[in-house]
Amino acid sequence: MSQASAHFGPPPVPRTWPLAGLVVLGLAMACAATGLVLVLGVALLPEWHAAGLALAERAVSLLPFDVRTEAALALVLNKAALICVAILPVMALEAALSGWQHSSFARLARRSTSSSYDLLIFALNLLGVWKFIVQLFTLGGMIVVGALTAMLVAEVAQAGVRLNTGYVALDVALAFLVFTLADYASHRLFHTRAFWPLHRMHHSATEMTALTLWRNHPVAPAIEAFFKVVPFLLFDVPAAAVTVIGLLMLVYLHLIHSNIGWHWGWFGRWVLLPPSAHRIHHCTDPALYGRNLGIPVIWDRLFGTFTDPRLGTPDLPVGVTDVPTNTGRPHMEAWADLKEWVGGLRPRR
Ligand SMILES: [Zn+2]
Ligand SMILES: [Zn+2]
Repeated sequence: MSQASAHFGPPPVPRTWPLAGLVVLGLAMACAATGLVLVLGVALLPEWHAAGLALAERAVSLLPFDVRTEAALALVLNKAALICVAILPVMALEAALSGWQHSSFARLARRSTSSSYDLLIFALNLLGVWKFIVQLFTLGGMIVVGALTAMLVAEVAQAGVRLNTGYVALDVALAFLVFTLADYASHRLFHTRAFWPLHRMHHSATEMTALTLWRNHPVAPAIEAFFKVVPFLLFDVPAAAVTVIGLLMLVYLHLIHSNIGWHWGWFGRWVLLPPSAHRIHHCTDPALYGRNLGIPVIWDRLFGTFTDPRLGTPDLPVGVTDVPTNTGRPHMEAWADLKEWVGGLRPRR
């Protein structure tokens, strides 16, 4: 099937849709819609929640170890929400706008070494295996980070220093600004010479898929955790707002790693960085290294790292050029990155 229309200017990119592509797209949209209804139903309706709990109890009884059913159901709901609300709709939208050939579905199905890394790391996260790899690479350091974070949370709760302006919307907006400032600071740190080895894995994708979001060095989360907990400790933001913003954030983060060429006009230049801005961020051109690091535009504008998103066309080459990547042995690349990071931290004589 091909779409033909009157066209002026350069010849249009052919958008062929193989039958398998249409079937996958249809299935993805059906799964997303069904999943979303189920997730919302189980979360909000008492009868659905009871039915979900009964089902989870039966499934959990098959496991050889003890699991709390409520916790198991919450975990399944979280993962279902991630896939149904963020990943499938973003990938379906991407396929509809950029054509099947350029979609994450097709790229993941073609299994280049780059897209295989994306899929592997996402699958390890989804199956709950990634956290063990994080422990292995940090030599248990993540346990220390977790304990320190828990201590910090308890200390702040006891001190009662939570900021509350009396207006929920203002609290949420302030918390969002402080959170994104901390996120900007941590991302900027990862783009310094010393910390780059731990961020290189994320940038080593040579073709973008929505799942490139998950492609990270196992040690990076241990450092990011320090930046990302504080904002939520300082502000008195309702749990429901955290959930909604968290879900919107997941949609946004998958969207900016997709191949959608959106630059969102003035909104992308002054409010929120669009997908084309993140394409620039991932570009191989050294002149564009460390540009567009944030989520809202304000931090990149204030700290001088903003580049006009209109320059970020979908054909910009992405990836890193300083070391060999996508060798087919991601664990060895992660190990080499870790050694380089530790070596770089040692004071030189
Ligand atoms: Zn980066
Ligand atoms: Zn990225």
